[in-house]
Amino acid sequence: TALIEIENLDLYYGDFQALKSISMDVPEKAVTAFIGPSGCGKSTLLRSLNRMNDLIAGTRIEGSIKIAGEEINTSGMDVEHLRKRVGMVFQQPNPFPKSIYENVAYGPRLYGINQRKKLDELVEKSLRSAALWDEVKDHLKRSALGISGGQQQRLCIARALAVNPDVLLMDESTSALDPISTLKIEELVQELKNEYTIVMVTHNMHQAARVSNQTVFFLNGEVVEYADTETLFSTP
Ligand code: ADP
Ligand code: ADP
Repeated sequence: TALIEIENLDLYYGDFQALKSISMDVPEKAVTAFIGPSGCGKSTLLRSLNRMNDLIAGTRIEGSIKIAGEEINTSGMDVEHLRKRVGMVFQQPNPFPKSIYENVAYGPRLYGINQRKKLDELVEKSLRSAALWDEVKDHLKRSALGISGGQQQRLCIARALAVNPDVLLMDESTSALDPISTLKIEELVQELKNEYTIVMVTHNMHQAARVSNQTVFFLNGEVVEYADTETLFSTP
């Protein structure tokens, strides 16, 4: 079943139309990969799913995006609530210059959870889900800036998961990492899809083939192909 339904979405940055009549369904608890050349609108569509484009002045968006049946593309939408349900991980690992623990506790604290025991539980659970717990459990108080890039990116995933979102958006989240760290995150994504709906932007066709269930090809702001990954990459 589709968790996200996009219908006739047009997006303009000033006079420039970056998305042209996009329609698609994003299946629940699966990985959807957006691929296509640089500048074709992948990140723009990704950012539309948690209304990050609101932060870019001069953006105009028309059409419908429903998440679990709820229209998010309306002025009445509680954007803070939306961003709790739709987490995001970026290309560059961007942990806060705080301890490993405080990075993960950040979201829950923001939403009013302050009880130490509850925070401890959430931090451990999120770090385990991000396959980072064993590596950091003995130095949770150390700075997040002191761990490797791959670990930092898994920490950013843990930070996103700590508020229990339904959707995880990943914007080229392995492209700044070495091959081993990339592989770890690809393996992690395979596990996370059992619990979360994942949408990832990648410029890497092989990565889309390895990890996604559905692949969406973009070109010049349009969706040119949209198919089940296994079907798409199997030789006829
Ligand atoms: P992709 O993720 O596929 O590389 P983007 O979604 O980042 O593509 O960009 C799509 C198009 O929109 C590009 O032509 C890009 O130059 C343009 N664009 C992206 N962000 C902005 C912005 N903030 N203001 C104006 N144009 C933008
Ligand atoms: P590797 O096994 O190559 O060291 P991983 O990233 O798979 O790298 O695992 C790092 C550590 O995290 C391992 O000690 C592993 O037991 C643990 N781990 C991996 N996946 C999970 C998971 N889904 N939940 C909890 N811990 C995990």
